[in-house]
Amino acid sequence: MEDLRNLYQEVIFDHNRQPRNFGKLEGSNREAKGYNPLCGDEVSVYLKIDNGVIVDAAFEGSGCAISMASASLMTEALKGIPVAAAQQLSENFHDMVAGSGNPQELGKLEVLSGVREFPVRVKCATLPWHTLNAALKSSKEPVTTE
Ligand code: ZN
Repeated sequence: MEDLRNLYQEVIFDHNRQPRNFGKLEGSNREAKGYNPLCGDEVSVYLKIDNGVIVDAAFEGSGCAISMASASLMTEALKGIPVAAAQQLSENFHDMVAGSGNPQELGKLEVLSGVREFPVRVKCATLPWHTLNAALKSSKEPVTTE
């Protein structure tokens, strides 16, 4: 239970209960859908990109607390940063949950570093980021963690 307590930290609960930037985004010009069949998580990511900068970000979907909190924290982190910085952030996030990299460089996203202890949960945490990458590439194909 101690591990679960560490994993489901208060901030994860909070973002799951009250997800930020939840809903379709008015005026979005990129979007993608992602699925994590292992857990049943699904996420749609919407971006509004202007001059190479993500001016707004939102998501919709349903799934476990980890996937929803990760999507919520991700959309917060994306607002106002250049596309290249978002791609770097995505790489850093994947490194963090894979157990390499420095969680402290990820700001608020560090709360999700605990998933590295739970391999099944890593896919829940990375689903929104896989979906983000697809949206940035304007991929029309739904992505899956499998
Ligand atoms: Zn999940």
